[in-house]
Amino acid sequence: MTTSVRPAHLPLGEIRGGRLYGQHILSVKQFSREDVEAIFVIAEEMRTMVERVGTFDLLKGKLLANLFYEPSTRTSSSFTAAMERLGGSVIPISEVRYSSVSKGESLPDTVRTLECYSDVIVLRHPEVGAAATAARYVRKPIINAGDGIGEHPTQALLDLFTIREELGAMDGLTVTMLGDLKNGRTVHSLSRLLAHYKARINFVSPESLRMPTEIMNELSARGMTLSEHRQLDVVLPNTDVLYVTRVQKERFASEEEYNALKDAYVITPDTLKAAKQRMIIMHPLPRVGEISMDVDDDPRAAYFRQMEYGLYVRMALLAMVLGKA
Ligand code: ASP
Repeated sequence: MTTSVRPAHLPLGEIRGGRLYGQHILSVKQFSREDVEAIFVIAEEMRTMVERVGTFDLLKGKLLANLFYEPSTRTSSSFTAAMERLGGSVIPISEVRYSSVSKGESLPDTVRTLECYSDVIVLRHPEVGAAATAARYVRKPIINAGDGIGEHPTQALLDLFTIREELGAMDGLTVTMLGDLKNGRTVHSLSRLLAHYKARINFVSPESLRMPTEIMNELSARGMTLSEHRQLDVVLPNTDVLYVTRVQKERFASEEEYNALKDAYVITPDTLKAAKQRMIIMHPLPRVGEISMDVDDDPRAAYFRQMEYGLYVRMALLAMVLGKA
């Protein structure tokens, strides 16, 4: 899965250590537990630096192309913030409608163009496997910022970092994933990363939005304890991390089909009476009704803190991929 890319302009013999240097980030499958921990050590350092000095020069002179074929608030702006806090610059293409994509330019040609001007390309695209396809055409690293219903590896890393920062450990936790597990790329990636930590995962979804069988099989083969449910109440009392997802409207064939499922689960303060005192509620955001706003003041609601952790993780990834960490 991992494709090694050594930029041609790098002088021979120059040592830029680290396993992520020059690598594409396409799927969480490419990360070992050691890789994840190395990223988190650097993310912690990034946090300290941001708290101390705000912006610094680690990636001065480097350029990131932010290429988004689907809407984004957090991923796109946090990659921009990460690059700028590290002293680098960003070419933002978040409205592909106004780029040559609207003239029919192919993904390979678009990324080939952007690699002429940048050092790393962050790509979000509606098709599964788009980032891997793009990676075949360029020498600069591609970072998958979501490929349709496939994966969202940088989100999963920041999700796991959130769990570590909030609960102190990742081994042996009970994680309950709730909502659209079929179309939600964040849960596809996060469940795979959790396999390194022997987490127990409860999947709670409507029948038609179940976690895909191939992912369930992959996780079982890695020795994970999994269970599937239609109702949250059975599993909530033992849950350490409640990971809520949005029903992914854009993946439905019809509005009726979406409307029938969109309110399948709504977390309210009342729901949380059955939850532990020491647990967290996460959400990759945006939320569109599945967590009531009355929950926001509950100290267990970690979804806004989760966004901030994302900045540090993305700073760490950029520094590592560009060989400066
Ligand atoms: N922002 C996340 C994603 O891009 C979650 C979502 O859209 O529901 O996958």
